[in-house]
This record gives sequence, C-alpha cells and structure tokens, in this order.
Amino acid sequence: MPRKGLLFVVSGPSGAGKGTLCQDLLRRRPGLRFSVSVTTRSPRVGEVDGVHYFFWSRERFLEAAGRGYFLEWAEVYGNYYGTPVAEVESALEAGSDVLLDLDIRGARQVKEKVPDAVLIFILPPSLEALHERISRRGTETEQERRLRLEAASGFLKAARDFDYIVLNDILEEAGRVLDAIITAERCRTSRQLHLIDELIRTGPSRGKEE
Ligand code: ADP
Ligand code: 5GP
Repeated sequence: MPRKGLLFVVSGPSGAGKGTLCQDLLRRRPGLRFSVSVTTRSPRVGEVDGVHYFFWSRERFLEAAGRGYFLEWAEVYGNYYGTPVAEVESALEAGSDVLLDLDIRGARQVKEKVPDAVLIFILPPSLEALHERISRRGTETEQERRLRLEAASGFLKAARDFDYIVLNDILEEAGRVLDAIITAERCRTSRQLHLIDELIRTGPSRGKEE
C-alpha cells in the first residue's frame, strides 16, 4: 500500500529564515514537494512567476478564493497570499510529502482542515537578529520592514500552538534539525503500521501458527 504523503507547514516572523531553510530542506530531500503560493504582491528582483510565487491581481485572487481554489488564504502585510489546493492534494495522494511556507493564520487554517499536518515554527535567536536579517535582505522598503517587525512579537506568541520550534541561529544546524523532524514524523507508529501488517502478511512463520 503506497504511503500517503505528509504535509509540513513552516511558519514564523518575516526574516526568521523560513525561505532559506525551505530551500535548504528541498536540497536535502529532492522528493519533497514545495507548494508554490499565489500572491498579489509585486515580484522582487530575481523572483520568477510560477517558481517563487504565482503573481496575480487582487481581482483574480478574490475571484479564485470565492470558488474554493485555495486550501487556505490570508491577507499578510497588506497583500493576499494563498495555497492552491489541487496540487497539494494530488501530491499527497500520490504519496509525496509537501512543504508549505505560510503566515500564522494560514498555518492555523491548514491544521483545521488537515489535522495531521505538522506545524513547524522558525524562531530567530533575537529580535535584533531579525531586524538585521530583514535589513540585510534588502527586499522591502523602510515602511514594509517596519510593518514586518511590528508583527513579529505577535507571531512569537503563536509559537506555542505549533508542533515544533526550530531555533534558526546557526543556519547549518537549523537545517539539520528541520531535516530530523521530517525523519521523526515519518517514523511515527501511526504512520508505520502498514509495515507491520506487511511483515505479518509475508513473513516465513505464516501458516505455522494457523
Ligand atoms: P523569511 O523567509 O523567514 O522571511 P529569509 O529566509 O528570507 O526569511 O531570511 C532573511 C535573511 O536572513 C536572508 O538574507 C537570509 O540569507 C538570512 N538568514 C537566514 N537564516 C540565517 C541565519 N541562520 N543566520 C544568518 N542569516 C540568516
Ligand atoms: P514574502 O512576501 O516575504 O514572500 O512572504 C510574506 C509572508 O507570507 C511570509 O510569512 C510567508 O510565510 C507568507 N506566505 C507565503 N505564501 C503564503 C500562502 O500561500 N498563504 C499564507 N497564508 N501565507 C503565505
């Protein structure tokens, strides 16, 4: 029986390192599928439509949201972001694990709809480090940076609702921890029972005990 894929959601404040850690995880695990979100924000320099995000108008986004196109969606820092449901469902159905990078409300919506989704919070070592990382990334205006930093403390309070917290101080270490979470989740007894059934079904002792 093919294993149904697991859904992993990475969330946390802007600048915590979610994007960097997701890229790192995808390099470590080529079989993991990243779900490309739809957004109404403008592309940053170097961002490619269909690769980093699908860049849509607000009208198109709201029309799609109205007909249930998204697994979850939310307004984040003044723009809409959403996860197209069809691709996630077909990947999970085919047995692939799927990775999502979502804001807190998106993560909560996913947990409600998919209760065995694994929620992972990425924690920065300090608010100063967060400030420094957002500034160094240099992808937002001063006003956008302020909006993201103001939202950070609210985000931190939400961390307790998550299944895991990964401290992203040293990038390499955080990457290893994230990878270990995937391994541990796959080994959960509830997800491995089919292996025992299979062993019993095909084992050499079959018949002797009957
Ligand atoms: P997010 O997706 O959470 O907004 P990013 O992945 O874009 O954050 O990371 C923000 C910035 O911080 C990027 O410039 C990235 O290279 C840098 N960064 C990420 N993790 C670390 C780390 N552990 N140490 C130092 N810089 C980091
Ligand atoms: P950015 O504009 O920096 O790429 O992303 C801003 C925020 O939007 C991040 O916190 C990111 O996790 C979140 N985000 C990205 N895609 C989605 C999505 O599909 N749904 C939700 N709810 N949040 C998303």
